[in-house]
Amino acid sequence: MSQNSRKIVIAIDGFSSCGKSTFAKAIAARLGYIFIDTGAMYRAVTLYALEHGAVVDGEVLSDKVVELLPQIEISFSFNSERGASDIYINGEQVEQKIRSIEVSNLVSKISSIAQVREKLVAMQQGMGQQRGVVMDGRDIGTVVFPDAELKIFMTADPKVRAQRRYDELTAKGDNVTMEEILENVLSRDHADMNREISPLRQADDAIVLDNSHMSVEEQMAWFMERYEAIISC
Ligand code: C5P
Repeated sequence: MSQNSRKIVIAIDGFSSCGKSTFAKAIAARLGYIFIDTGAMYRAVTLYALEHGAVVDGEVLSDKVVELLPQIEISFSFNSERGASDIYINGEQVEQKIRSIEVSNLVSKISSIAQVREKLVAMQQGMGQQRGVVMDGRDIGTVVFPDAELKIFMTADPKVRAQRRYDELTAKGDNVTMEEILENVLSRDHADMNREISPLRQADDAIVLDNSHMSVEEQMAWFMERYEAIISC
């Protein structure tokens, strides 16, 4: 197989608001790969649960979430204006809705439900079957694609991450404070690392990228060096 036609799986895991999606999207555009934002899938299930009575007084009713699961059909459709795919639940585009602070505050609880993970992991494995994908999440290199040819574990200073998220949300007109964003970032880190099933952890064969003080261009140069080394083997 020629060097250019060999397609691999690129797994990008790491903490919340590290810029994983921005990085993964840029890689996919550069390589002509499909980008899959698995966090968006957990957010979509969370939004559906919120809108269908599975969250009462801020408490997640796990049994109700499990009961709702068969009704949830998640799909992606490429949006050429954004240069990335929008996510849909049962045909409704929910790209904006899934990014709210309300969803962010509940998603770690929903993503710790075994049946939710089973459904989404199976879907993700199907989407990457042909290789040629860049998938970002928490368990891609450890659970979804333990055989991924290139695994990257992203991290950055929590304050830098909170600032990035704050800038993103306020630019959209959301009324949020730095304190609540930092609190959300830290509590999601804690929940994601300490859940029983598929906790966030660095795969043994992952390379660490701390992008606290790196531009997207610098991250891309860092990536291309590693990618070329793998693809030329
Ligand atoms: O990547 P993002 O921050 O949008 O992910 C939202 C949440 O979805 C995470 O905090 C985590 O709880 C969950 N998640 C997960 N496994 C993944 C991707 C996301 O548990 N592969």
